[in-house]
Amino acid sequence: HSLIKYKTDSILGIAYNRLFILDKKKMSVHFPHTNNSSKPPMFRHSNHKYNSLLKDGRGFIWFGTYDGLHVWETESGTLKSFYRSNGLVNNSIKSIYEDHSGRIWVSTSNGISKISVKKEADTFSYNFENYNHFDGVLNNEFIPGSVFLTSDRHLLWGGIDGMNELNINDNQSNEEQLFTPLISRFFISGNEITQGKKYNNKVILENSISKTRHINLQHEQNFISFEFSALNYTNPARTHYRYRLSGIDKEWNKISPHTSNGKAVYTNLAPGDYQFTVYATNNSEKWDAPPAQLSITIHPPFWRTTLAYILYIVIFMASTLFVSVIIIKQKSEKIKRLQKEELDLMKLSFYTNVSHDLKTPLSLIITPLSTIAKKIDNTDLKKQVNQVRQNANDLLNQINQLIDFRKLEIKGETLQLSFCNIPAFLENIFVPFNELTTDKNISFIWNIDIEPSNFYIDKDKLKRIVMNLLSNAFKYTRQDGTITVIAGNSHLNKGNIPAIEIAIEDNGYGIPENEQAKIFSRFYQVKNSKMPNTGSGIGLHMVHEYTKLHKGEIELNSKIDQGSCFKVRIPINLEPDTETLIQNDVSVQKSPLKILLVEDNSEFRNFLSKELSGTYQIIEAADGNEGYTKALEHLPDLILTDLMMPVMNGIELCHQLKSTIQVSHIPVIVLTAKTSDEAQLDSFEAKADAFVSKPFNMEILQLQIQNMIDKHELRKKLFKNAIVVNPQSLTSSSIDEKLIKKALDFISINMENASYSVEQLSSDMCMDRTGLYRKIMALTGQNPTAFIRSIRLKRAAQLLEQGLPVAEVAEKVGFNTLSYFSKCFQNEFGKKPSDYR
Ligand code: ADP
Repeated sequence: HSLIKYKTDSILGIAYNRLFILDKKKMSVHFPHTNNSSKPPMFRHSNHKYNSLLKDGRGFIWFGTYDGLHVWETESGTLKSFYRSNGLVNNSIKSIYEDHSGRIWVSTSNGISKISVKKEADTFSYNFENYNHFDGVLNNEFIPGSVFLTSDRHLLWGGIDGMNELNINDNQSNEEQLFTPLISRFFISGNEITQGKKYNNKVILENSISKTRHINLQHEQNFISFEFSALNYTNPARTHYRYRLSGIDKEWNKISPHTSNGKAVYTNLAPGDYQFTVYATNNSEKWDAPPAQLSITIHPPFWRTTLAYILYIVIFMASTLFVSVIIIKQKSEKIKRLQKEELDLMKLSFYTNVSHDLKTPLSLIITPLSTIAKKIDNTDLKKQVNQVRQNANDLLNQINQLIDFRKLEIKGETLQLSFCNIPAFLENIFVPFNELTTDKNISFIWNIDIEPSNFYIDKDKLKRIVMNLLSNAFKYTRQDGTITVIAGNSHLNKGNIPAIEIAIEDNGYGIPENEQAKIFSRFYQVKNSKMPNTGSGIGLHMVHEYTKLHKGEIELNSKIDQGSCFKVRIPINLEPDTETLIQNDVSVQKSPLKILLVEDNSEFRNFLSKELSGTYQIIEAADGNEGYTKALEHLPDLILTDLMMPVMNGIELCHQLKSTIQVSHIPVIVLTAKTSDEAQLDSFEAKADAFVSKPFNMEILQLQIQNMIDKHELRKKLFKNAIVVNPQSLTSSSIDEKLIKKALDFISINMENASYSVEQLSSDMCMDRTGLYRKIMALTGQNPTAFIRSIRLKRAAQLLEQGLPVAEVAEKVGFNTLSYFSKCFQNEFGKKPSDYR
């Protein structure tokens, strides 16, 4: 197919895809790739089809095959192969031609390649420049070997469909030509933005994008894309691009030549300033041409603008100021309130102090008044005296209320429950109010219907509640008004617990709705010029607090100028715990002290009773038997008994008392006309505590009684202060001594057992809890819990005196924690254990 001059005397040729050498001298042919010499080249694949052959001006031999272009650099003897991967337009070579400036032109099955060969030092480099259908090259194949250069240097290639012509005179390489790219299209969220087009009601481009240097966008317009072109009209497909968006791209993005235009896409751009830069170049990848540039500003949303930030600061400062002002105001209000409260309390303490002073003379007025009233026969005078007494009683009641109020304020009150017949109790409160009806001609109607009638209640507090509500009703009811009180069974709204309800209704001034919640606060009084403005504003406060103490409810219905109805509901299921019940018992015993008088002579008994009743509460019994029963029933503080009596005489009574554990601690004084030593001996044998012989001076008897009681109190004190408990010194009877001894023994056995309790002690002692309580209380003045603790602490004191470490002592006397031990010890002895040691 092709022949070229190879060496002086030889021709290189291709025939039917086989390479041969014709030696003209010898006129012989040989096939270079069949012998083993290295020259001419031997190809690795035997199926190369050689379409064309060229020996160029450099002496290189070019082989155009169906599969690649090969060049044999003759001098160095190297063979190089080029394929599409090396930059060739196509692998199937049809013709090879060298032009006047040494460039090699290759036609292929699909396009034309121009190859420039450069020598760099000892090696040669090959640079490809391709032309395809984008450049106007025929789509179909070129015919093998069909290439021709005209005299005016136009290269012609023959193809199946026609022919291509290229003027290689002006075909200078665009390697040196520079292209400045142009941004040709601009998109937001995939929508093309053109000059004057409205996007979201706003024109974005005033000019065409190619002439635009800056774009302003809103924060949500942050998905944008550009298209750009290098304006390489002759060879656009061979343009390289690189582009970058400052602030986003760290490296340049490169686009290799495939399509005519480049495209860049950016999504989710944050508000800020950006610069888009794009460079274009030809095949040789020189980036010398100036770039196209476009700056973009994405504006932040309003809430992220400087103005917004200033606004935030202003709002923050304003609210801080506002809050501080409020806090300061609240603080000053609080201070004012506290000051007022302090003043109130001071006033109150002054009033109560005065009240205490008023109480005694007032009692001294009331008591003789009752006696005087009884003695007066003149009805008019009697009525007046009774009125004086009533008013004095009212005054006393007011004073007591003030004292109670102070108690409530300072200490906090507890319920003192006692079992009581409620209807009778209420009736006793209601009846005296009848006397108030005449003044204003008020009709006072009351009805009590309560079932069951007996239950536990704090009598004093219930009385205060009812008296206050009733007094208010009378105070705030006009002339000819009506007051109705209905006491009946009901339930608490909360928990549906059975309760009694006392409803006190009047048709008086009424209370404005907006003040109804406030009237239960202390010192609060409704300001109403029509209403009597007496009182102190503590009554309803106490009603409220006392109802609350009873776990009850209070309800108010009132209309201005029509009247008010207060409903108080008190649960009937209240029960005192044993300890408080007994404690109440004990405290009742204490004031005034109880004396049991056992005397068969009623005259003498009455005389004694009269004489002593000023100081003591007197219980009377006519003989020893009755005396014994009453002693067990009332547990008096002292028993005064005659010696000679029917049924059971004084000696026998004394015997019985001293051998009955419940009463054995009660001091007994024996009175007798007998002066004989025998009688005295008998009484002492019966363990009587003292002996007084008739006739006696009343004062002496009084002193004797006082001494006896003091002695008993002294024992209690002795117990408290002693470190070593001596049962004998605590007691006046052997049975008590035994009891204390036994108790001490049990406590001492259980000294290290922290959980040893009153229950265990009472079961160890074979006594019920109440009995033990009464006994221990009577003998030591302490309840059993305190008694046990006291014994432990006394033991602790002994051990500390022996020099034992505090922690060890605490453990030895049954305290679980050192801090509790310390606290109790200090309470008992006024010193810390360590100091004591
Ligand atoms: P005071 O000593 O002023 O009576 P209270 O605490 O008992 O104090 O009552 C507080 C205020 O409630 C009274 O000042 C009065 O204005 C109003 N108030 C109480 N009970 C009635 C009532 N039955 N009718 C009208 N107003 C009443």
